[in-house]
Amino acid sequence: MGRIVMKFGGTSMAGSERIRRVANIVRRQQAAGHEVAVVVSAMAGETDRLVGFCREANPLYDPAEYDVVVASGEQVTSGLLALTLQALGCKARSWLGWQLPIHTDDAHAKARIGEIDSNALLASMAAGEIAVIPGFQGVTDDNRITTLGRGGSDTSAVAVAAAIGADRCDIYTDVDGVYTTDPRIVAKARKLKYVTYEEMLELASVGSKVLQTRSVSLAMKEGVRVQVLSSFIDDDAAPADAIPGTMIVSDEELEGIDMERQLITGIAADKNEAKVILTRVPDRPGAVATIFGPLAAANINVDMIIQNVGRDKGETDVTFTVPGADLLRAQTLLEAQKEAIGFNRIITDGKVAKISVVGVGMKSHAGVAATMFRALADRGINIQAISTSEIKVSVLIDEDETELAVRVLHTAYDMDAKDEAA
Ligand code: ASP
Ligand code: MG
Repeated sequence: MGRIVMKFGGTSMAGSERIRRVANIVRRQQAAGHEVAVVVSAMAGETDRLVGFCREANPLYDPAEYDVVVASGEQVTSGLLALTLQALGCKARSWLGWQLPIHTDDAHAKARIGEIDSNALLASMAAGEIAVIPGFQGVTDDNRITTLGRGGSDTSAVAVAAAIGADRCDIYTDVDGVYTTDPRIVAKARKLKYVTYEEMLELASVGSKVLQTRSVSLAMKEGVRVQVLSSFIDDDAAPADAIPGTMIVSDEELEGIDMERQLITGIAADKNEAKVILTRVPDRPGAVATIFGPLAAANINVDMIIQNVGRDKGETDVTFTVPGADLLRAQTLLEAQKEAIGFNRIITDGKVAKISVVGVGMKSHAGVAATMFRALADRGINIQAISTSEIKVSVLIDEDETELAVRVLHTAYDMDAKDEAA
């Protein structure tokens, strides 16, 4: 017998009919002999609606009162799920963030979870009661309600799983797992059985939005085993215990199970980057600092950076990327610093995409980048910038070539689903 945390997103909680489906999945999980805690999101669209009310009430809203308003969406669904479970004959009760409590800091609208008191929860679960916990919310030391930032219910679920020492944290979503790449781009994308925390973090941060990134870092830190699986399942679907979804686990756990690892686990595409080139920047100590200092001060996240070899005139071009949403701000800031930095021209391009190949296998294998560059070159795709980490190689290309590049790489690394497996 195990202890399982189940998390359901807004789509699964949108309306009585769907909540009944969720209640059935929960009941089945408990009937399999487990202690069960469920973490729920607000109904789809509800948090947006509540945020809208706050803006209408006061455009300069106080984040502490904003939290009081937006936390209510999850209060509704947690109560409704408890009621629905009771209607199915299960013992169930809701535990609001302040009741457990889930302690957070006081950074309203983006609070971080500190400690979760789990004694009462554990006692109730041991007595056969299903615990229903609203995601996204917590409480400060001064008893003020907080929320964790959009998408925060994933993080709530992982935090609860860590606090109660759950055997698994199952995240039920609209997709049935994590894929090698976006199946809408590559029909032969494969669902992964396993992915490591590190890989998931890289894949999440480069554009595959299955889980809130913070929930993955927390799971990694606390060693919580997370499964991503579909909430749209029939009564005769494989039970969650059979791991129909994708397990996110540590490197060590993976080594034990999956000897025949592929070199590359996933390919992600991110069209939200923009490229900035500063021409003829003086090639002397401190020049680069005068560029990136002001950007950092303005909280603009710079990702890829290339500084060319200096030309004989003691000048060089510097190329880098920023989030597309920050491009205008970055450009304005840099123009204002033109004298101080001493560049000649600023050239920007919002029509770029960052393509990343991710895999822990590349730690111990050479040639991953070479394969990437060759495969792209063979299709005439020009690489504008490159960056690497221990488990990732990213290139910047023309946005129009995104889909082609992803397909070409998926094949180049031999990741396409074979017919019998598809
Ligand atoms: N309801 C919150 C949101 O929409 C939290 C969540 O669903 O994860 O962001
Ligand atoms: Mg979500």
